[in-house]
Amino acid sequence: MNVYFLGTGTSQGIPVIGSKHSVCQSVDSRDKRLRVSVWISWENHSYIIDCGPDFRQQMLASNCQKVDAILYTHEHSDHTAGLDDIRPFNFKQGEIPIYAHKRVIDNLKKRFDYIFETKNKYPGAPSVKTIEVVNNYSFSIGNKMAVPINVMHGSLQVFGYRIDDFAYLTDVKTIDKNDKGDITINGKPLLRFRIIEEQKYRLLRRASDMKERLEKIIKNDFSTQDIKSLPFDNFILICSNYVANEIANETNLEGDEFVTFRNQIKNYIRNNFYDYLKEYWESRQ
Ligand SMILES: [Zn+2]
Repeated sequence: MNVYFLGTGTSQGIPVIGSKHSVCQSVDSRDKRLRVSVWISWENHSYIIDCGPDFRQQMLASNCQKVDAILYTHEHSDHTAGLDDIRPFNFKQGEIPIYAHKRVIDNLKKRFDYIFETKNKYPGAPSVKTIEVVNNYSFSIGNKMAVPINVMHGSLQVFGYRIDDFAYLTDVKTIDKNDKGDITINGKPLLRFRIIEEQKYRLLRRASDMKERLEKIIKNDFSTQDIKSLPFDNFILICSNYVANEIANETNLEGDEFVTFRNQIKNYIRNNFYDYLKEYWESRQ
């Protein structure tokens, strides 16, 4: 199976129109990013996930010759606005199936009412066949199965799709616990692992946030308390336990993973804020 990332940019694309930001001014080709979409193909099968405003350009750049169907993740414009440009494929192939959540299909009918017109439809308009995607129900695309993965984009439900060992998820903020284990390879929840790693990575990078949290506990718990009698080792332990618990509780981690993550934060605080805490402790002796 070939996976071609047609676009990996934000909803406005990179560069952003008129932006003077260094990334937008960059001449590095990696800073030219179209709206998100992916093209999956194998044997003579060819599928697109999402169809945003850069669809035409993406089809030309990738030299995609055929679209057997479009799988939609959600209805936001950066994922749907290119639907009108499927016409060249319609002229060659006829009607193109589009797979989406019922809510997304209803939304597309509003955005592209002329495509769904039943009376006096303009003959040159795109032609689609809608197929509703239901959570927990796989569907066949070519000779493979697509498994919808229910995830949340803030408060909006979004579908990711898994085809064989490839899973594509976009715009995800949270993933339901019950669905986490679904994305497994040889019994191992690989995707889950990566999400957690990413979460750990992000949290560990938030050093300034940790400093703020440490300052808060010092201010609240130790400003009036006499810490003269408290050995420094105990002081740093109390502070790091408090912050590590607070941060770990903000994740969805459980059991061993929770404990490991909490210990990582504790170590991180010890390694990075030792001097800061020591200085404070000494000032109170
Ligand atoms: Zn979105």
